[in-house]
Amino acid sequence: MAVPQRRISKTRKRLRRTHFKLNVTGLVTCPQCGAMIKAHHVCPKCGYYAGKPVYLNGKLVKEEKKAEQPKKAPAKKAPAKKAAKAEEK
Ligand SMILES: [Zn+2]
Repeated sequence: MAVPQRRISKTRKRLRRTHFKLNVTGLVTCPQCGAMIKAHHVCPKCGYYAGKPVYLNGKLVKEEKKAEQPKKAPAKKAPAKKAAKAEEK
C-alpha cells in the first residue's frame, strides 16, 4: 500500500483546501436593477423580465401590444381634421 513519504504540514493542507468552496448556483444579477435574482425568474425587486416590465407597482403589466399605441396617434389627428372641416363649413 502506498504511504505518503512526508507528513503534509498544517499550512500546506490548509492552503490546498482554500480552493474547496461551494458556489452559489442559479443566481444571476438583474440587468435592469443589478439585484441578485433567480435565473429565468421575474425580478422581485424591479419586476422586469428579459428587459420588459412584467410587474410595476405590484400590478401585472398587460401585453406590450396594448402598451404600444403609435398607430392610434393618426386616429386622434382624424377628429382634428373633421373639426377643421366643420370650421370651414
Ligand atoms: Zn431587477
